Amino acid sequence: MTKTSHLFEHILTHYRGIFATLFLLPVSVLYSAYNSARNLIVFYGRSAPLKHEQRVKKVIQQIEDWKKGGALEKLCTARSGWKTMSEMVPKYKLSHRKIDVGMYDILEISEQRGTVKVEPLATMGQISRNLITKGWTLAVVPELDDLTVGGLIMGFGVESSSHKFGLFQSICASFDLVTADGQCVRCSPTENADLYYLIPWSHGTLGFLVAAELKIIPAKRFIRVHYQPVYSLDEMVEAFEEASRKTGENDFVEGLVYSRDTAVIMRGTFANDIESDGTFNAIGRWHKPWFYKHVETYLKNRQAGVEYIPLRHYYHRHTRSYFWTMEEIIPFGNHPVFRSLLGWALPPRIELLKYTETETTRKLREKFHVVQDMLMPIRYLKQSIKYFDDHFNLYPLWLSPMAIFDNDKHLGFVHPHRIKDGTVDEMYVDIGAYGTPLKANFDNASALPLLEKFVIDHHGYQALYAKTTLSREDFRTMFDHTGYDRLREQLPFCVQAFDEVYDKVSSKGRVSPVEMRKLVNNRESDVQ
Ligand SMILES: Cc1cc2nc3c(=O)[nH]c(=O)nc-3n(C[C@H](O)[C@H](O)[C@H](O)COP(=O)(O)OP(=O)(O)OC[C@H]3O[C@@H](n4cnc5c(N)ncnc54)[C@H](O)[C@@H]3O)c2cc1C
Repeated sequence: MTKTSHLFEHILTHYRGIFATLFLLPVSVLYSAYNSARNLIVFYGRSAPLKHEQRVKKVIQQIEDWKKGGALEKLCTARSGWKTMSEMVPKYKLSHRKIDVGMYDILEISEQRGTVKVEPLATMGQISRNLITKGWTLAVVPELDDLTVGGLIMGFGVESSSHKFGLFQSICASFDLVTADGQCVRCSPTENADLYYLIPWSHGTLGFLVAAELKIIPAKRFIRVHYQPVYSLDEMVEAFEEASRKTGENDFVEGLVYSRDTAVIMRGTFANDIESDGTFNAIGRWHKPWFYKHVETYLKNRQAGVEYIPLRHYYHRHTRSYFWTMEEIIPFGNHPVFRSLLGWALPPRIELLKYTETETTRKLREKFHVVQDMLMPIRYLKQSIKYFDDHFNLYPLWLSPMAIFDNDKHLGFVHPHRIKDGTVDEMYVDIGAYGTPLKANFDNASALPLLEKFVIDHHGYQALYAKTTLSREDFRTMFDHTGYDRLREQLPFCVQAFDEVYDKVSSKGRVSPVEMRKLVNNRESDVQ
């Protein structure tokens, strides 16, 4: 290592907050401005729907070329692995043949069918901005602006309306998938239904998604949020479960847990007017406190309250602070002076954060840092919070209720667990743990496998954007592969073309950003 790179590593490791402020934020702002301008030009300046057919043909052509060449390599999307929301980078992108599925557009809004048709790289920020101006919104809007439709369908996506509408995948009326034999197949609950139910969680191992039709609902101007502080674990679990099951009454439900016994449970409903029972709060403005800090004030003041939050501000309420992880990147980011001067520039882009990881920060992250979402049957919420408290002591925890629907005879990767008496409870909860646990002698290397065992034992699921240490066998216990294995055998060229999901999401398929940089550098020096 040269003196300059030593110095650079030292700055990145020890002055990360200052580096993020002075370098990552300006670069992120420029990059986001470029993306927005591009979207405007593409969507308003050209005919996106007409171009869509051509783009699908291009994907098919690339598959045909692969077949003509003997179908030798495995396939993956050409999107840079640095751009994914995961903390890790896909290693398989270095060896697999890349298929360009660069499709970013909103194609058609059909008020009659109650759907919007979009391409896979359309993002949540782009779609919510576009729909809300027309009086509509997606039934489920996963929180961060940069989450892509393709990633949310092929991986997973959840938000505080998921108790009503299910995971992001459940609001999809249909998918257009280009399979490994170069066919564009439309799938819905009534057409190619087996494929339709297996695309979610399949991580692009059944084909390339080229479009999806998503359910939309009428939007209103505000979300009326009722904040309820609670001061015991029993009260927390009871209030959260009750709110989650009242799907007719509550459009949105969320919990932020601040300790084993304290939390704020939030219930949201659409509203067009600000009533006298609450106050207006545009929480998304750059100078406002980070959302989880604001929510905590209800706990400290020991008082419930009601606020009317503009719709987009509500949907993207955790974006500026990436939930609470920004505190570790820019520790002074929630200071009023910082917010007033630079709050508008937050958050720095994920790909830049990954690219500037150093060997030292990698080691610290892998040992002490946790980013996990565990999807648990809601009847195990109490045990789960106790488990996180005993083994992690990491707060806040994010609680987002979610329905996993019983699809009857169609076997997807996830389905609600059948209770001993034969009944099915579709209500689950996403428990999100992000940050550095305070548990004495914490080491993720031992804590994560134990947590994964706890999740399997309680019939839960792990979100696969995060690190998994499951063995292939345990992975198959957690995620039902029955229909998937059968379908991969049936679909022509599928096994030749695509890895299994496990090979993409486990350590076989993904590495840390630092290791990826080394692999790329080694490859480049081999070529020279
Ligand atoms: C800081 C942070 C915050 C997050 N917040 C939320 C949140 O609020 N709500 C939430 O639900 N989730 C959240 N997530 C997780 C997120 O849902 C997942 O990462 C999800 O997979 C979407 O990420 P992505 O758009 O980067 O997809 P990617 O990681 O790019 O894609 C996921 C998988 O789908 C495959 N894929 C993508 N597009 C296609 C295609 N067109 N054809 C075939 N295969 C394809 C990819 O190959 C990959 O295997 C968060 C993650 C992080 C790190």
